[in-house]
Amino acid sequence: MGSFPWPGFLTFLGLACLLLLIGAAIVVVVILVAQRNRKRESDPPVPPRPAVPPGQAQPPSVAPSMPTSRTCSACGTVNELANNFCEQCGSPLS
Ligand SMILES: [Zn+2]
Repeated sequence: MGSFPWPGFLTFLGLACLLLLIGAAIVVVVILVAQRNRKRESDPPVPPRPAVPPGQAQPPSVAPSMPTSRTCSACGTVNELANNFCEQCGSPLS
């Protein structure tokens, strides 16, 4: 007895356990972060689609952006939408 370096061995054991604990903690943290990232990727936060308020819903019968005729600004004649010039006076329709 006495020939075995117990203090050194215990110190080595303590260091080994400490390194083991640190390594385990690092592994756990890495696993948690990986799981969180994976969960975030698989389930992205989808912003709620803004629903149109019923009061602002456009009535389907009114389409203000699609005129069906062109009115001449010079003589007031209502021309067809395909006409580029007034049928009555020949003025260019804007
Ligand atoms: Zn005209």
